[in-house]
Amino acid sequence: MRSWPMPQLPELPGTGSRPRVADSRSGQLIALPGGQANLYVCGITPYDATHLGHAFTYVTFDVLVRALRDAGMDVNYVQNITDIDDPLFDRAEAIGVPWRELADAQIDLFRLDMDALKVVPPTSWVAVSDMLDELEENARRLIADGRAYGLTDDSGRTDYYRATSDADYSGEHLAGINLIDVFRENGGDPDRPGKKNPLDPMIWKGVEGDDFRAEGDKPGAWRPGWHLECALIGHDYLGTTISIQGGGADLVFPHQEMTSIHHRDFNPQVEALGQMNTGLVAFEGEKMSKSLGNLVLVSKLIERGFEPMAVRLLLLNHRWNDDWEYTDEQLNLAERRVTRWRRVRHTGGAGAHELLTTVRQRLADSLDTPGALAAIDEWAEVNEHNDDRDGAALFNDMCKTLLGLYL
Ligand SMILES: [Zn+2]
Repeated sequence: MRSWPMPQLPELPGTGSRPRVADSRSGQLIALPGGQANLYVCGITPYDATHLGHAFTYVTFDVLVRALRDAGMDVNYVQNITDIDDPLFDRAEAIGVPWRELADAQIDLFRLDMDALKVVPPTSWVAVSDMLDELEENARRLIADGRAYGLTDDSGRTDYYRATSDADYSGEHLAGINLIDVFRENGGDPDRPGKKNPLDPMIWKGVEGDDFRAEGDKPGAWRPGWHLECALIGHDYLGTTISIQGGGADLVFPHQEMTSIHHRDFNPQVEALGQMNTGLVAFEGEKMSKSLGNLVLVSKLIERGFEPMAVRLLLLNHRWNDDWEYTDEQLNLAERRVTRWRRVRHTGGAGAHELLTTVRQRLADSLDTPGALAAIDEWAEVNEHNDDRDGAALFNDMCKTLLGLYL
């Protein structure tokens, strides 16, 4: 799918170090080999885009992409759009708009938001709706191979993957999670009678007889399983190595777990090096969600007159794996920071090369963006009244290329 414009990335002197980031599952550092990094980041379901929780995730992976490129690596970055999903259909029905129209409008809005936030577009931005033939083919294959089974009721047949043949769900990262409850809260149906295991994920819903798309190409009555979608797109676009699988922390179970299982099913040789799950963003005491009605949308903040770069700076001021709560006050502070940095962009100052080294070190150390911003603050404070054109130019280029801040 057409994404959004590539922001300008000025060349910087020297190179950065390959980022050292801990796997969200094991806590161990992800061993990224040099050369190429293959990233898969779960994309939006286009019905409540783009709230600050989404923006935090995509800006985090944007900084990762920038740091990997700065370390001389090639990056193959794939992101999906889950434009066929129950919450989208439900929302469209609730507001009386055809689901495709709602999805397209939300995808357009997401593009505008990503452009405003100066996010480097993924190498491939893939809509699930463009993968239906292949998804159907794979669902049929799993059923034919006996790795999936169907259960029928009034709404037709639903096919489930026998995930238990592959997984024992004993990973450390799942310890302490009530898997059945979390599965239920995230669209799973653990209570459906007849399931071989309550946690088996759906791979296709709404089959009639042998017809997987019972009412033609009009999803709603039927749809493929979400985990199968991400696994197939990752498999097709990234091949055998997934360097990092990313997404919000609310995707850990069942989505990312099930996606990995499907992925191994597509290719038992697939190597998944690590997972990065970004922290959740709350507002007024609760995690942002459509159902709670406490979404803070990037587009609304911009409409209210906040600068996109202040929004970006607000996001960068949090560690990627921390949960945090949004307040307007934080955004006001970010705006004051933008104004200060914009001044120093003209005055520059001594030590811009040292600052570049420090910022690179902070990013290599688990994408420590708050540390990088603090280093810039310190430098800006002593250099506000200088007149060092070279230092100013280097500072400005560094802000763009490494932090995505176009001052
Ligand atoms: Zn996904």
